[in-house]
Amino acid sequence: MRIVLLGPPGSGKGGLAERVAGAYDIPIITQASVVGAVAAEPGELGRLAAEARGAARVSDELLLALLRIRLPKLDLSRGYLLVDMPRNAGQADVLDVMLNDLGKPIDLVIKLDVDMDELMERLVGRIQCDHCGTLYNMYVNPPLVDGVCDECGARVRRRPPDYEETISNRLRVYEGQMGPLLQYYQQAGRLHRFDAAGEVAPLWRQVKAVIDATPSQEVTAPGEGTVKAGGVDDAGSSAKKAVTRKSSTKMAKKAATKKAAKKTAKKVVAKKTAKKTAKKTAAK
Ligand SMILES: [Zn+2]
Repeated sequence: MRIVLLGPPGSGKGGLAERVAGAYDIPIITQASVVGAVAAEPGELGRLAAEARGAARVSDELLLALLRIRLPKLDLSRGYLLVDMPRNAGQADVLDVMLNDLGKPIDLVIKLDVDMDELMERLVGRIQCDHCGTLYNMYVNPPLVDGVCDECGARVRRRPPDYEETISNRLRVYEGQMGPLLQYYQQAGRLHRFDAAGEVAPLWRQVKAVIDATPSQEVTAPGEGTVKAGGVDDAGSSAKKAVTRKSSTKMAKKAATKKAAKKTAKKVVAKKTAKKTAKKTAAK
């Protein structure tokens, strides 16, 4: 199965990615892993990758160039899970051509949606004791005494005053880039959005149901297929031709799965809210 996973920081992408990759035995491919692998190679691209890693900034062009040399070297026979790549619609277009040429087109795109307020609560509220590692959330689970760790009594650091604004800006930039990218995949009929406000376990069940209901496109990759004796076959174009669009029955089936998944998600949220309220009441 060939999957793209997209989601804002704090949406629980990492945990979900591990479950998907584990269940379907496919490699997780992130920007960091691609940049890191190429940076270890000799040559001009290796040098550029190392430089970009040092600066923690990778341009669109460089990322695509790195993917172009990295993807053919990976074992993608069972599929792949691309995380947070592509980053925009322009990259998506180039990546599609690249993956089609490899005979490994994207089967589905998973986008995790979390309400902005909820994300702020998760990202801004999360603090950790430097001394013993105990995790707190300033909003839902603060230490009993402000600024002091319940477990070890060490000081629990507060966030810098502009931290909330920084996070908020980061999320806004992210959502701005997402719009055209999601539209691109929506038009191609590959996009599936999930409410990721709840716990990872129920989210995983919903995602798995959609993955299992999605047929992996049958393609003949260059070199893998049968080559006619004496004939020079343009493997790239034949791979493209082999990519078939999903039938309307399958689409309808998927829509039904999505509906059911949404219902479950709503229930989970309601349960969570009830839990929170109970906690607060108990604290009083
Ligand atoms: Zn502590």
